[in-house]
Amino acid sequence: MIDLRSDTVTRPTPAMRAAMHAAELGDDVFGDDPTVNALQQRIAEMLGKEAALFLPTGTQSNLCALMSHCQRGDEYLVGQMAHTYRWEGGGAAVLGSIQPQPIAQQADGSIALADIEAQIKPDDAHFARTRLLTLENTWGGKVLPMDYLQAATSLARGKGLATHLDGARLFNAAVALPGDPRRNARDIADHFDTVSVCFSKGLGTPVGSALVGPHDFIVRAHRVRKMVGGGMRQAGVLAAAALHALEHHVDRLADDHAHARRLAEGLQGLPGVRVEVPQTNILFVDLAPERAHGVVDRLRDAGLLCTGLYRLRLVTHLDVSSTQIDQAVRILRATL
Ligand SMILES: *Cc1c(COP(=O)(O)O)cnc(C)c1O
Repeated sequence: MIDLRSDTVTRPTPAMRAAMHAAELGDDVFGDDPTVNALQQRIAEMLGKEAALFLPTGTQSNLCALMSHCQRGDEYLVGQMAHTYRWEGGGAAVLGSIQPQPIAQQADGSIALADIEAQIKPDDAHFARTRLLTLENTWGGKVLPMDYLQAATSLARGKGLATHLDGARLFNAAVALPGDPRRNARDIADHFDTVSVCFSKGLGTPVGSALVGPHDFIVRAHRVRKMVGGGMRQAGVLAAAALHALEHHVDRLADDHAHARRLAEGLQGLPGVRVEVPQTNILFVDLAPERAHGVVDRLRDAGLLCTGLYRLRLVTHLDVSSTQIDQAVRILRATL
């Protein structure tokens, strides 16, 4: 089976398992796990922030961020199709009593500056207090332009809002932009007060995310993490995988991006099939309704796993080879 459902399906490599096996451990609830501490220091440095917190999932990382930026009765501005609004079970509202203000996004994933401005509420007892702007990069595999990040976050800051980036796939954006990926990752993070990154997506770890930001913010987030059940003990076993990934799996994301482009190129010219040119590792394929019926099941029967309905989503990752990409093209062409 060629599994293109998500970049979360990867298994840890033998070298990653060896790093996990060799990790020095302690009880992280006591702050005693040297590997967790090393990871937190490393990711904070990489993204140019004072401090970091290791968490089991990106959802929990975003939740801790929202609950540390906002109090009960506050509101955050967020894309209508953003993970921090639509795909996290309503956690900010349910657990944080924080009101989301979802805003329709542009086709590139950005939220228009005028739409951000229009949703910032005046200081009036009728309204929730607008506290935070949350953006997502990459969004649907698309890289938000650096000048947009600059414009949106300075608008927010000028209005007294804090800024948070859901950078689950931040390193995909950093690798897709021209220049040094580490420099790019830091430049993206520089625009935001706080950033969440996932290690369990393209970076290929079994578990783990990090939240980075100012020291006092991370202290608050640490309390929230405990409250929502995210205090882990010998978590260095997992942090070791993330440290390994930061060392060995960042630059290779370019291979995943090349694979996504190769898939897109391989699907050119099929009638009733529209392929978007992928910027990173996520490829969307739009199907005419008459071609879409049962297509995911038919692809699975032919040996290819993906998700979607009229719009297939194919995600490349560490565990798919070039040979498998060529095989995937053959399966897709035959089935579509
Ligand atoms: C995957 C993802 C998350 C969080 O994912 P978890 O499955 O909770 O680790 C957050 N934001 C985006 C954009 C994601 O893709």
